[in-house]
This record gives sequence, structure tokens and C-alpha cells, in this order.
Amino acid sequence: MDKIELNSLGLDELRSYMVSIGEKAFRGEQVFSFFNSRMGLNLDELQVLPLKLREDLKENVKVNEIRLLKRFDSKVDHTKKFLFLLEDNNIIESVLMEYSHGLTVCISTQVGCSMGCSFCASTKEGRIRNLTPSEMLNQIYFIEKNIGKSISNIVLMGSGEPLDNYDHTMKFLNIIHDTKGHNISYRNITLSTCGIVPRIYDLAKENIPITLSISLHSPFDDVRTEMMPIGKKYKIKDIIEGCKFYEKTTNRRLTFEYTLIEGVNDRKEDVDELRRILKGTNSHINLIPLNPIKEYKKDRPSLSSIERFQKQLTKYNIQVTIRKEKGMDISASCGQLRRDYLSNE
Ligand code: SAH
Repeated sequence: MDKIELNSLGLDELRSYMVSIGEKAFRGEQVFSFFNSRMGLNLDELQVLPLKLREDLKENVKVNEIRLLKRFDSKVDHTKKFLFLLEDNNIIESVLMEYSHGLTVCISTQVGCSMGCSFCASTKEGRIRNLTPSEMLNQIYFIEKNIGKSISNIVLMGSGEPLDNYDHTMKFLNIIHDTKGHNISYRNITLSTCGIVPRIYDLAKENIPITLSISLHSPFDDVRTEMMPIGKKYKIKDIIEGCKFYEKTTNRRLTFEYTLIEGVNDRKEDVDELRRILKGTNSHINLIPLNPIKEYKKDRPSLSSIERFQKQLTKYNIQVTIRKEKGMDISASCGQLRRDYLSNE
């Protein structure tokens, strides 16, 4: 049987674990804050625990560690990309971005992805495996240690589909938010999904007011399904219903991501249909100019077409922003770095 990952456990689980091995519950709290507020990794450093307990833990549980493979620093802005090596030699990537409101880390939730979106580099070899909670946490803790600063915002927009790794993602959110741990407000966390409808309802009922961001990319089911195979399973109408439920339950404004692709989803009819389907939502559209990858032979529209698209939406009173590109010189788009690295090695 696999050993328990000590740094994937929440506070209550750690308390119960300690009690289950005949220790006092407060030992669980000590371990939790060691991992999550002091960002410890090595049980040997956990000096507050008696030596005997440390030795027992070393024998019976594991502490998951990630190692840095390579850091890429953008020369055009302060974006940094991190390629990490996991214990089973899988590779994942995370991105650190600087905004006026603080530092944001974009983390991966899976190694690869099984969603198959045609324009996305993360999914080209399918999903290799889910990340554990500690592997998500460690991306953040490692980066903070590496740069010597605290981050304020987290986006689950790296490789993987977070709602396809639901339980680990929920555990991660619970741990990173814990006041005895890293104490990151749910409002500073955004989860991006391709739209797995039943999980949107589950997420709404978790009572955690994170920002939900939906990768919409087209208001028409046939066009969207061409780009995103998940569209065969979940129709736009049902996604929007789920979003409305999310909005009502959590009182949070929604975001729709919209990757602009020339001639595919940048037409006037797209604007009109977007207006129709988003009616009655309190939402915001984030336009992302396509980052071309070699497997997808399409382009982003010209800057003037992107701005025209934005203006047309604004005219309909839809709030819309164009995503500012970060780290263009270090292939900062979803899964590109890992893929480049693997194909070069
Ligand atoms: N699985 C989640 C997170 C994916 S990445 C989701 O589907 O939302 C975050 C965003 O980047 C998604 O909206 C995704 O569709 C988009 N994206 C992926 N590859 C891209 C590319 N090459 N150009 C522009 N946007 C891309």
C-alpha cells in the first residue's frame, strides 16, 4: 500500500492521524504549520516533535517533495516560469506573474490533461496522472522560497483540468486557505475549467467563494466542440445554467475566458450570440489572443480585430478585458514549456 503523504493532509486530518497513532492532537497542528506556514519539507527539521515521533513518521509516512528542474526568467516583464520534477520523474510547470495588485502564481493540477482542446499544448499526450494536494501546494511554497516573497493570488490555470481532479483540488484549496496555514483568501483564488457541469454544481455547494472562470471560447456548440471535445458532453446552455447557480450560491462574479482565433470565433455573429447567452449573468469576459502551438494551424486575429471585438462587446454593456500577455519570450502558455522541454531532451 502507498504510504500516506503527510503534507497532503488538512489540519483536521493531521490531528486525527496523530490521535490514531497514539499521539496528542496538537502534534497534528504542529506538523500542519510546519508544512504550510513555515514551508518545511524535511521531517528532520521538525524539531518541535520528539525525536522518536520523527523517526516513527519517517518510517510510516512520506513527505512529498518537488525539485526545480529549470527556471526561466522573461526579459520583457517579470514573469518567471518554473519547470518542476516530481518524485516519479514527471514534469510540471508553474508560472509566477507580477501585477500591480501583487504576485500571482499559476499552478498545474494534473500531469498532462485528458480534455483534448485542439489549441492547447497541455493535452497533446493526454492525462498522465492527477497531482496530489501536496504537489499543488509545493509549487507555491517552492516559488515563494525561491523568490523570497509571498504571493497573494493563485490561479488554477496551468496544465490539467482542476474539476477532473476534484477531490485533490478541494483539499488543496482547503489547506492553502487554512488560517493556521498559508491563509490565502478564497477571493484571491481563481479556478479555470473547460466546463464539467456536474462539478460546477458541486463546487457551488462547497461554500468556498473562489472565482470561477469558464473556458468558453465560442458561444456556438458546434464551433466550441470542434475546439473543445468536452462540448460533446456538456452543452453551452447547461454550462451557463450551472454558472448562474454558482453565481447565486456564492455571490461571486463569473469570468469567461475567450481565446480569440482568427475566423473561428471573432465574428460579429459571435458577439451577438455571446450577448444572448450571457444575458442574466453578472460576468466578465477575458479575451486571450491565441498563443499558436505547432499542432494547431490557426492564428490569433490582428490587434485591430481584437480591439474591434472588444468594442462590440462593450457596446452591449458586456464587461470585457484583453488578457495582458506575460512572458511571451518564455512560452508562457499552458503546457508549452514542459512540451518544449520534453521534445528537446
Ligand atoms: N483546464 C482548465 C485550465 C486550462 S488553461 C480550462 O480548460 O479552463 C487556462 C486557459 O488557457 C484556458 O481557457 C485554455 O483554454 C487557455 N489556453 C490553452 N492553450 C491556449 C493557447 N495556446 N492559446 C490561448 N489560450 C490557451
